[in-house]
Amino acid sequence: MNIQANVAGLAKTLPAHCTLVAVTKTQPAEKIQALYETGHRIFGENKVQELLLKHESLPKDIQWHLIGHLQTNKVKFIVPFVALIHSVDSLRLLEEINKQAKKAGRVVPCLLQVHIAREETKYGFSEEELFALLDHPVLTELDHVQLKGLMGMATFTDDQDQVRQEFRYLKKLFDTLKSRRLPPAVDLSELSMGMSGDYSIAIEEGSTMVRIGTAIFGERN
Ligand SMILES: *Cc1c(COP(=O)(O)O)cnc(C)c1O
Repeated sequence: MNIQANVAGLAKTLPAHCTLVAVTKTQPAEKIQALYETGHRIFGENKVQELLLKHESLPKDIQWHLIGHLQTNKVKFIVPFVALIHSVDSLRLLEEINKQAKKAGRVVPCLLQVHIAREETKYGFSEEELFALLDHPVLTELDHVQLKGLMGMATFTDDQDQVRQEFRYLKKLFDTLKSRRLPPAVDLSELSMGMSGDYSIAIEEGSTMVRIGTAIFGERN
């Protein structure tokens, strides 16, 4: 597995406006370090515990993104350093991030996760819940979070049309929200969608941020 070659190949297919988040879950420090040496700085983890360990042991100028489900009781551990949380899926969670960010003297960038897949197991807001959240008066009081955009995961399927429809739906929702009057804490510019198996479709459908693990580091154990 040649990490450098994989990333160079990927970089060629990504449009300039699209950010690559290298997903390091279950990957050993040596592999992450190898990618770091090429100059890459944006890495994503889906579990808090692993994120903390890797943040501890790897270079401090890495921008760590949390891409997996976040429990409110773990927010305080990551807020001091996390660069972007992709997986905000409730107002309660957002309020806790705001509270801990205030303590840490930070404004933490966040994405709202939208449920777009057919699977029941995936987290995220429905369209109705998303509109309700953005209209919620408390949002104007959350000075220590900044809502930067949306994140979604498509259904795990070989049906490319299905995946495309789901990404297209998310992009449309993103554009609809952007055209509304939004609270000051909301600045929708990022659309995080696309993984190893579906990033080409996601990019065609307007992704600004892809989260890629396997296609960089090889299969996970
Ligand atoms: C694991 C993971 C990815 C990357 O998956 P690959 O198929 O290895 O590219 C992207 N997003 C989330 C939320 C993940 O948990």
